[in-house]
Amino acid sequence: MKRRAVLAELKLVPVRIRHMGTGRCKELLQRMYEYLVSRGVEVRTSCQVGEILVKDNTARGVTCQDGKALEARFVVMAPGREGARWLGREALRIGLENSINPVDIGVRVELPAAVMEPLTRIFYEAKLIYYSRTFNDRIRTFCMNPNGEVVLENNDGLVTVNGHSHAFNKTENTNFAVLVSKTFTEPFKDPIAYGRYIASLANVLGGGVLVQSLGDLLSGHRSTVERLAKCMTLPTLNEATPGDLSLVFPYRHLMGIVEMLKALNKIAPGVYSRYTLLYGVEVKFYSSRLVLSNSLETQIKNLFAAGDGAGITRGLAQASVAGVLAAREIINRV
Ligand SMILES: Cc1cc2nc3c(=O)[nH]c(=O)nc-3n(C[C@H](O)[C@H](O)[C@H](O)COP(=O)(O)OP(=O)(O)OC[C@H]3O[C@@H](n4cnc5c(N)ncnc54)[C@H](O)[C@@H]3O)c2cc1C
Repeated sequence: MKRRAVLAELKLVPVRIRHMGTGRCKELLQRMYEYLVSRGVEVRTSCQVGEILVKDNTARGVTCQDGKALEARFVVMAPGREGARWLGREALRIGLENSINPVDIGVRVELPAAVMEPLTRIFYEAKLIYYSRTFNDRIRTFCMNPNGEVVLENNDGLVTVNGHSHAFNKTENTNFAVLVSKTFTEPFKDPIAYGRYIASLANVLGGGVLVQSLGDLLSGHRSTVERLAKCMTLPTLNEATPGDLSLVFPYRHLMGIVEMLKALNKIAPGVYSRYTLLYGVEVKFYSSRLVLSNSLETQIKNLFAAGDGAGITRGLAQASVAGVLAAREIINRV
């Protein structure tokens, strides 16, 4: 098989694959890597793509940030959430149309695993949706981690919060995200900038992620190290700074989160407890959604877009399927 460049930086983080030990993840990644290399694929890491090369409305390759050009008959843009801003800029530069996606902003909730156990025992991960009374915003749970831990995420220098579970190292807590979706209307077209701005407030106030107990939030005062020491839920993320999330979130987001926790308390009593911990900010950048064909080709010939960065997927399975879809179309044309 002809050698082809894989125009993506492979920076898969093993912890993203939940229910699987880190060792097993590394082993799987190594096997995938060996398989690809044995089939003539060249994998380039730490090779950031700068620009997409286009001529006569057809993809011609990419340039790397070091200025080197890589010619290609087909290009798949799949930079993930981390590269969504880059993709947005490139789309604008090469004239691709897009529609505006919502931005999901919220908190990572952490509480004793026993509280969620009636749900997690049956579903493992319960996907719950609530429409807030005050603003009629769509609020959802996301990425539930029974007996898991809360972790930091670095989005291009912006520190946000996330969570995962290990197969064997269990904690006493369960965590999940509560996210408020907001779609902007004309003239605002930059939901990513909005999400980054909110998250950056937590970084400014706490040097990273803030943590506050629901009791402190409802009583109108910040959490402190001393107050959290008396909290029944022990935080699994030690790097979070005790603080005040009401100084970070807009009123409508904060109201939505509190209303959602109250509603959740009906199906999992104990969620709306003063000992429930809230970490902020968790934000999901779905950016603009490119206009794509059914095989994920953009309006530029032989230029495909896949995964979270293109605003078309929101998880591992969907992102993987998107890659397969684009690849099948490319194989057909080759
Ligand atoms: C902590 C965490 C936990 C998660 N847990 C789950 C879960 O439990 N279940 C689930 O379904 N999903 C989960 N997700 C989401 C899941 O990881 C993503 O949906 C999925 O990885 C998206 O795949 P992707 O290929 O679109 O992007 P990614 O996997 O993000 O890959 C994109 C790659 O492109 C690189 N890149 C960006 N810009 C450029 C550029 N200009 N040039 C070259 N390379 C570039 C990035 O560095 C990255 O390596 C989690 C995510 C995180 C961060």
